[in-house]
Amino acid sequence: MPLSAEHHPLAPLDAAENDMLARVQALVRDTIGPRANAANRNDEFAWDTFRTLAESGVIATAFPAALGGTEASMLLRVRIIEEIARTCSTAASLVTGTDLSSRPIVAGGSAELRAQTVPLLASGSKQSAFALTEPGAGSDLARLRTVASRHPGGYRLIGVKKFITRANVADMFVVVASLADGPGGSKGLTAFLVPRDAEGLGVSPVIPKLGWHGVPIAEVRLDDVFVPVSHRLGEEGQGMALAQDTLVRARIGHAAIALGRMSGALQIAAQYAGHRQVSGKAVGEHQGIQWMLADMAARIEAARCLVYSSAQRYDRKDPETSIHASIAKMHSTDLCMRVVVDCAQLLGGNGYLNAYPIERFLRDAKMNQIGEGTSEVHKNLIGRHVMKTASAMPQHPCLDFEPDLFGAQ
Ligand SMILES: Cc1cc2nc3c(=O)[nH]c(=O)nc-3n(C[C@H](O)[C@H](O)[C@H](O)COP(=O)(O)OP(=O)(O)OC[C@H]3O[C@@H](n4cnc5c(N)ncnc54)[C@H](O)[C@@H]3O)c2cc1C
Repeated sequence: MPLSAEHHPLAPLDAAENDMLARVQALVRDTIGPRANAANRNDEFAWDTFRTLAESGVIATAFPAALGGTEASMLLRVRIIEEIARTCSTAASLVTGTDLSSRPIVAGGSAELRAQTVPLLASGSKQSAFALTEPGAGSDLARLRTVASRHPGGYRLIGVKKFITRANVADMFVVVASLADGPGGSKGLTAFLVPRDAEGLGVSPVIPKLGWHGVPIAEVRLDDVFVPVSHRLGEEGQGMALAQDTLVRARIGHAAIALGRMSGALQIAAQYAGHRQVSGKAVGEHQGIQWMLADMAARIEAARCLVYSSAQRYDRKDPETSIHASIAKMHSTDLCMRVVVDCAQLLGGNGYLNAYPIERFLRDAKMNQIGEGTSEVHKNLIGRHVMKTASAMPQHPCLDFEPDLFGAQ
């Protein structure tokens, strides 16, 4: 049933995974859901929600067992994120954001650095932030200007990073920079772990924003910050590869947040429409409204299949995971934006009031279309993939024209 993912055929979980999911559902029902409006009122880091997620073991699901985590499959994580996002984007983004900001350390840190930092991140006693975007470079990473110059024993970093989630509370920053004398473009990108107390690192006041309250953003300045070689993540030039794996995980996470939010919004709108009376019957008994609900339900279920199948591909290490993550992210986040707008419409004036959750869902939905690759960036990737795949396929059996009829000559 589109309103719920119970026993979904594309999300077969084992008994232990189902237990974990049931614990999350109880947490959402008893704590995260009822607290969601309050957590979103101010754009201050939602410590209460974060601690609840850490204590219940949800944060640890992103981390390897050897480093204090429980190493959940992507499929289970997607189900957890979806359930949480039905009520609270803040809580869901604390789960995905922890993964985004710590994955490069897990994947690229030396054994010693990982042992020092990852168990603290998995338990929620420390926070990290992922600093890639700059004032002049978001989608176009070739324009990144933060520079790492080799220095005896390490590197010196100079640059500015913008839009950095959790920068105001982070204990450490994953910073992606170009090597000063390395190859240009993405080949020279290298990642570093910079402690918050490193000399020369500065964090701006929190930058006000439309939604995603509870997970503030700020600017990070690196003013000739020394980083020892031990804090380089991966080899020189591997920054892009580390960022790619991190971003694929994050894209599936965004798609799951959007999926949960729009399922929650549809539930709210349908329940409201079942009670509110207009012209002698409930809003939801009018055929025009039922068609709206039907369109949303059908499209949400299609998005759910995309999200779950991309998670399964990730777990199977399918070489096509990245493009499927793009498809799931673009489809689910764009659809979510449309669904929450329609759900707000179904609530009439109440859809516009702070007292009802839909206006919050609406403000939060925009972010999923922007973060971790905008919808336009994913369209470019998918479009290029379609062209490349089609050119490698045999000619369609109904296309028996001579080549000149294609206008190719
Ligand atoms: C709330 C929030 C939290 C964030 N958290 C983080 C974080 O923790 N760490 C981090 O590093 N970054 C973070 N970001 C940054 C985010 O990833 C970028 O904003 C995003 O990648 C878009 O980059 P940009 O803002 O520079 O937009 P631009 O790249 O300047 O894009 C502007 C417009 O052009 C379009 N566009 C770009 N390229 C093309 C193209 N080739 N073809 C067609 N259209 C195109 C875009 O889709 C967009 O509509 C965050 C952003 C927000 C809003």
